[in-house]
Amino acid sequence: SATASVAAQPLENADALIDSVETFIFDCDGVIWKGDSLIEGVPETLELLRSKGKRLVFVTNNSTKSRKQYGKKFETLGLDVNEEEIFASSFAAAAYLQSINFPKDKKIYVIGEEGILIELELAGYSYLGGPEDGGKKIELKPGFLMEHDKDVGAVVVGFDRYFNYYKVQYGTLCVRENPGCLFLATNRDAVTHLTDAQEWAGGGSMVGALVGSTQREPVVVGKPSTFMMDYLANKFGITKSQICMVGDRLDTDILFGQNGGCKTLLVLSGVTSLSMLQNPNNSIQPDFYTSKISDFLSLKGA
Ligand code: PLP
Ligand code: CA
Repeated sequence: SATASVAAQPLENADALIDSVETFIFDCDGVIWKGDSLIEGVPETLELLRSKGKRLVFVTNNSTKSRKQYGKKFETLGLDVNEEEIFASSFAAAAYLQSINFPKDKKIYVIGEEGILIELELAGYSYLGGPEDGGKKIELKPGFLMEHDKDVGAVVVGFDRYFNYYKVQYGTLCVRENPGCLFLATNRDAVTHLTDAQEWAGGGSMVGALVGSTQREPVVVGKPSTFMMDYLANKFGITKSQICMVGDRLDTDILFGQNGGCKTLLVLSGVTSLSMLQNPNNSIQPDFYTSKISDFLSLKGA
């Protein structure tokens, strides 16, 4: 991006930023909530932006839930957010398949959790795999051959706490034995923060297993890929320069915004610290940074 080499500025005048765009895209974990806890000041901040007539969109790379399930999570946290405003990478996988007119008579093999299955079903696709394959083991006997469904036309891989060798082998057979089989990844986050205590292997670890065995690169629909940005801009008729992308991660959220030509704001309420932002080895510089989105309520400029 053209702005990548310019050091991020501390946000000083939130009103000027708010007035300069018509849409805010918020990353979820680290911006709206941390795990199951709401981040301080979020309800008031969203209310302020809505009262100013801003369009609000919520994007998450976490594919384990459907947008409807995220709708419930927002509700549980006391946030007034419509399902239609939520774009999870689980939904994005189904939306991508629809965008390429993936044939309804083909099947999809899923390595991932429930969110992906729900979205595929809502989009009218038939799938196999998912949590159901979580307990399966392969018993190798001489001459053993693992069968796979030849109608599988796509393998979708997302974060999966029930990942195992059966799933890798099944997905590998689908992709390697059918050169036309699509290899789709919800996201490639290297690590995630299932708990605050440490980093945990993210969706990129499951995707990486299939990259290793198939020697193919997946189509990725989650951040920082441009798919969701293009989808959103198209769906709502938004001009990308009229968007501010707000996130806590440089290599997913901020890059996602920059790839789309949007304004970008890094919040330090998630995984990125000020010293990580200012580390000379970091080349991803948002336009602005601030500690949390509720700074919008207090940073009124000069
Ligand atoms: N993937 C998984 C499995 C996660 O648990 C999380 C965060 O909780 C993410 C991805 C990143 O989510 P987000 O894009 O909302 O920060
Ligand atoms: Ca995040």
